[in-house]
Amino acid sequence: MNMSDEIKLFDTYTRSKRLFVPLESGKIKVYTCGPTVYDYPHIGNLRAYVFADILRRMFEFNGYDVTHVINITDVGHLASDADEGEDKVEASAREQKRSALEITKFYAEIFKQNLISLNIESPTVWSVATEHIAEQIALVERLEKLGYTYKTSDGVYFDTSKLSDYGHLGRLDINGMMFGARVEENREKRNPTDFALWKFSPKGKKRQMEWDSPWGVGFPGWHIECSAMAMKYLGETIDVHTGGIDHIPIHHTNEIAQSEAVTGKQFARYWMHVAFLSVDGGKMAKSLANFFTLQDLVDKGYDPLSFRYLLLTAKYRASLNFTWKSLDGAREALSSLRERIAELGDNASEPKRELVEEFRGCINDDLNTSEAIALLWKVTGLPIDPAVKKATIAEFDKVLGVGLMNKNEVDISESIKILIANREALRKEKKWEEADKIRIELGACGFKVKDTKKL
Ligand code: AMP
Ligand code: ZN
Repeated sequence: MNMSDEIKLFDTYTRSKRLFVPLESGKIKVYTCGPTVYDYPHIGNLRAYVFADILRRMFEFNGYDVTHVINITDVGHLASDADEGEDKVEASAREQKRSALEITKFYAEIFKQNLISLNIESPTVWSVATEHIAEQIALVERLEKLGYTYKTSDGVYFDTSKLSDYGHLGRLDINGMMFGARVEENREKRNPTDFALWKFSPKGKKRQMEWDSPWGVGFPGWHIECSAMAMKYLGETIDVHTGGIDHIPIHHTNEIAQSEAVTGKQFARYWMHVAFLSVDGGKMAKSLANFFTLQDLVDKGYDPLSFRYLLLTAKYRASLNFTWKSLDGAREALSSLRERIAELGDNASEPKRELVEEFRGCINDDLNTSEAIALLWKVTGLPIDPAVKKATIAEFDKVLGVGLMNKNEVDISESIKILIANREALRKEKKWEEADKIRIELGACGFKVKDTKKL
C-alpha cells in the first residue's frame, strides 16, 4: 500500500499509473465533461460525477486548492457521436412540445439536484455551452487561420490528417479506418475521423438554437465547447480531465486534437476515465426498461447515499453491475456503519493520525475507495477510544461523503408515529407498565426504542 502522501493516478493517455505532479504548486485544475441535458440523467451517468467528486475531495484532503469546471451540453450533441443525425436537445424539445431552452433548463436543474442528493460538491464553475458561443467561434477561427479546417456543404470540419499523432488517446488505428457503409455518412469529409467544428442549420429548416458565424448560420460541433470553456476557465493546460470511457475514442480524442493544434501545448496532463455502470449485466437503455434515475431509487425508499456507497465499493476503473440486491447490500452496510458510529457518543477528539495516513494511502493510490471502505470497517472494530474512533471516521467521510455521521433515516408510518406519541404521553404520566407494552409492540414492528433521560 502507498503509505506516503504521494498521489498516483491512472492516466489513460499513457495507459499507466503515474505519480501526480500539479502544473502549479498547491493548485489543481480539473475539467469534467458534463451531461447532455435532453433527458433525465440515469444512474450510470451519475457514476461519472461521483467519481469526479472523489477525485476532487482526494485533492482537497491533500490540501490542494481545486478549481473544478463541469459543463452543461445544451447544444450540438447529435444523435450519433459522429456528427450525424438530429441534435439531441432539438429532438427532445420537438417530442415534448417544449422549447429547447425549457428542456435544457429543466434537465440541467434535475442534474444539479441529483448531484446535491449524492453529496457531490458543486463545481467552482458550471459552464453552459450556449453561453459560450463567441468563445467557440473564436477557437474555430484560430484553427482556420492555422490551416486545420475545411468547409463542406454542411459545416466546417477539422482535418485530422494534419496531425501526426491524432487518435493516440484512443489508440485508434487510423490507417485501418475506412468510411463505413452507412447511407447517412458524410462523404464530403476528407477522412473518416474528421469532425465538425461548426454545423450549418439544415437548408429550409429553422432550428431553435442557431447563431451567426463567419461561415454561416448554424451551431457549434459537440467537441469545441469543452476546449473553449476549459481554456477560458482553467487555461491552456489543465491538470486532470475526466469523463466516462465512452468519451475516449471520439469526444476526448477530438478535444485533444483541436486544443493542441491551437496552442501547441499539452491540453490535459492526466486523462481519467470511469468505467461503465451496467444494469443486469447489460447496457442501460430505455427500451429495456432498465434505465433508472436517482428518483427511481428514492421512490423505492433508498437513500441516494446508499447508491453512492455502492459505487465506492468498486474501483472506478472496473465496470460495475447494478442490481437491486447489491443496492440492498449497500443500504444495510451503510445503515450498520451509521448505527455503530452513533453509538460512539458525541465527545470531541483528535483523529488517530496513523489511521488517517493509512486512509490517505488508499485514496492517493488511484482513488482506491474499495480499500478505503475496507479500512473503515476495520476501524469500526478496533479497540480504541470511541471519541478518537469517531473523529478518525469523520476524516474518512470528508472524502467518502456517504454521510457516516448521519442518523439512519427510517420511514416511519403514521401508525408507528401514533404509537410513539402515545408511549411518550404514558411516560409523562409515569404509567411505566403501559408504556412498556407499547415499547414491546414497537419492537415487534422492528423499532428499537431508546429513551433519553429527559422527558
Ligand atoms: P452524456 O450526458 O451522455 O454526455 O453523459 C454524461 C457522462 O456520463 C459522460 O461522462 C459519460 O461518459 C458518462 N456515462 C454515460 N453512461 C454511463 C454509464 N453507464 N456508466 C458510467 N458513466 C456513464
Ligand atoms: Zn467534453
